[in-house]
Amino acid sequence: MLDNKGYTVGSGYELVRQKFQAVKWNQCVWNGWCIPRHQFIGWLIARESLQLKMKLFQLGIAADDDDCLLCSNASETHKHLFQECTYGRRVFSEINNLCNMSIPMSNHMQWAGNGHVSRLQKGVLLCIVMAAYYHIWMQRNKARVEGCILKPDLLSNQIRREVQARINARLLPVTDRRDLDWLRSVKLYL
Ligand SMILES: [Zn+2]
Repeated sequence: MLDNKGYTVGSGYELVRQKFQAVKWNQCVWNGWCIPRHQFIGWLIARESLQLKMKLFQLGIAADDDDCLLCSNASETHKHLFQECTYGRRVFSEINNLCNMSIPMSNHMQWAGNGHVSRLQKGVLLCIVMAAYYHIWMQRNKARVEGCILKPDLLSNQIRREVQARINARLLPVTDRRDLDWLRSVKLYL
């Protein structure tokens, strides 16, 4: 418990605290850019902790089948819902069209977190991906409760407006010329 400074509160804490393995997605979810309510859902997605039909079906709870509620083409798993589902892919495709972007159709979080771009650009991309995940999950719940969902182009417009409001509330004024040009090119700067 003693380090070269003798006993400190920090060294005592390090001794008694549980040690966990670091996860790569931590900074992708918990950062100052994403909208907080989106971060919570993003955290559950990264941990694969959402109560999806596949899990409930396997447990024999509240599901007649494990079909995806958004496309009916596959089992509702985390990988399907957020990486493979045709509905989610159309949402990301519409966002790409709206914002002149090239977000890939899968592994969005890793792509946004690992890109060799400025700190601001990485934050904005993560904010978009987390917003898309949140709203895909909300549409999934809407399908379960109401039996209907928004068209991908309407949903992507809603996602862009939310991200635009978040970015503009957080960023003003942007002083770096390259960041400013980029924000204007992706139509997120008012
Ligand atoms: Zn699907």
